[in-house]
Amino acid sequence: TREVHLTARPRGEPTPQDFALVERALPELGEEQMLVRNLAVSVDPYMRGKMNGKRTYTDPYELDEPMDGGAIGVVQESRSGDFPEGTTVLHAAGWREHAVLDAARVRPVNVPESLSPTAYLGVLGMPGLTAYVGLLDKARMQRGDTVFVSGAAGAVGGIVGQLARIKGAARVVGSAGSAEKVAYLVDELGFDAAFNYKDGPVAEQLAGVAPDGVDVYFDNVGGEHLEAAIGAASDFARFALCGAVSSYNATEPQPGPRNMFLIVTKRLSLQGFIVGDSDRSSDFYREMVPLVAEGRLKFAETTVDGLDNAVEAFISMLRGGNIGKMVVRTGT
Ligand code: NDP
Repeated sequence: TREVHLTARPRGEPTPQDFALVERALPELGEEQMLVRNLAVSVDPYMRGKMNGKRTYTDPYELDEPMDGGAIGVVQESRSGDFPEGTTVLHAAGWREHAVLDAARVRPVNVPESLSPTAYLGVLGMPGLTAYVGLLDKARMQRGDTVFVSGAAGAVGGIVGQLARIKGAARVVGSAGSAEKVAYLVDELGFDAAFNYKDGPVAEQLAGVAPDGVDVYFDNVGGEHLEAAIGAASDFARFALCGAVSSYNATEPQPGPRNMFLIVTKRLSLQGFIVGDSDRSSDFYREMVPLVAEGRLKFAETTVDGLDNAVEAFISMLRGGNIGKMVVRTGT
């Protein structure tokens, strides 16, 4: 089988030379193991952090080993009674075409007929749960709130905006990095307004779309966006600090918001979180599967074909080449 290895730690933006596609023989199946053929593997922003050599909230990727990451596949051979051949499974052995996995490390998924299994890498997977937990538990969004989400046309952001609407937000606004994405947010996802952060200062553009202030900010981006949101926040506003993708390729720590004192005067709550800590999966599935299966919550996928193109897909995603979830299709 083939798998992608990290061969050098990127400085700044990753390049294809930091990775290698490696052919490897698969081990024999042991007791309670199965051979999974991956249908699709996920490329996500957090993986950039794991390419640096240091431990953060997870271990870094090892050099010259397959990287891990979310993947959805089909059981091709099994020595586990719980996972007969043909079972669709979600697991963490991404960046490869096949994997031999212990039964304890995979989760069966029952994909609704109207959906593709890749939905479990995005809207019904880790990014969807991130949106759910961040908006509802961390930012404690209430009916009537004005909600601002950055990175709004991405995997997490697009779900945040729509969930906010479904949960009774008074106004939902977002930012993204192109005119096409802005049109998608307003025309397809039902945002009240959106702006292209590349068109001018974020603070000015945010004031334009949320003139009466922001009650909830879902931060995917950090940097100038976070400072602008602090500036636009209403008293007692709540921020879910989910990510800071604007700085993931930075080689130096980036400066923080200059207006931090407003956190005091406006009595803001800023809550960082990591989705893996959440115990809300069953609530999430109960609520989200019907919303998604019935088309009441939309999602987009940007699909790249072939494991050979996974690195390119990852680099492209960090540059904004995706609308919705970036997915690499590796099999059928
Ligand atoms: P996305 O699908 O949103 O893809 C990344 C996006 O980042 C790109 O499409 C691009 O969109 C945007 N981007 C890149 N550079 C910049 C920049 N300089 N300024 C603003 N936007 C930029 O990824 P996800 O939805 O998977 O993840 C979104 C965020 O959520 C990330 O920060 C990620 O780390 C975080 N996250 C956190 C989790 C947690 O547990 N805390 C779990 C999952 C995700 P554009 O064209 O708009 O620039």
